[in-house]
Amino acid sequence: MVAGAMSMAAGEYVSVQSQADAEQADIARETAELRDSLPAEEQELTQIYIDRGVEPATARSVALQLMAHDALGTHAREELGISDLTTARPLLAASTSAFAFVAGASAPVGLALTATQDSVIVFVSVGSIILLAILGALGAYTGGARIVRAALRVAFWGAAAMGFTAIIGRLAGAQL
Ligand SMILES: [Zn+2]
Repeated sequence: MVAGAMSMAAGEYVSVQSQADAEQADIARETAELRDSLPAEEQELTQIYIDRGVEPATARSVALQLMAHDALGTHAREELGISDLTTARPLLAASTSAFAFVAGASAPVGLALTATQDSVIVFVSVGSIILLAILGALGAYTGGARIVRAALRVAFWGAAAMGFTAIIGRLAGAQL
């Protein structure tokens, strides 16, 4: 549980921080371009709308109006695909991931604590797959997606992950 939570937190932190670094570099470059070569930037945005099927005159008019309103925000959205310029919070993302992992992992850990020595492998794997299916169904229900398909998908990939882990454990000669 601790190893998994730490690994999720570290991965999330690095991922969010790298994304934020890349976005900040893009925004800084875009800010400089808007300051130093405004006509080219106006033309660039106009061309983006023309490529999406807007008439050239209308495209130019839309580009100029949007840039008069919020030049950097418009270029960030249309050119870089950055929809909101809120600052990412890597530490918050990391701790959320760690807590989510602990919450999810406490179920199989609880199952292992209540099982007897002989039945622990079957008890934990079957119990975890059932719980995964319930979680998948719950997620699909919350998001309005198809429940049975989501439950089967989560259960299948959970079982596959457990199977691969068991095979690798056996090949390495370790009791997992
Ligand atoms: Zn631009």
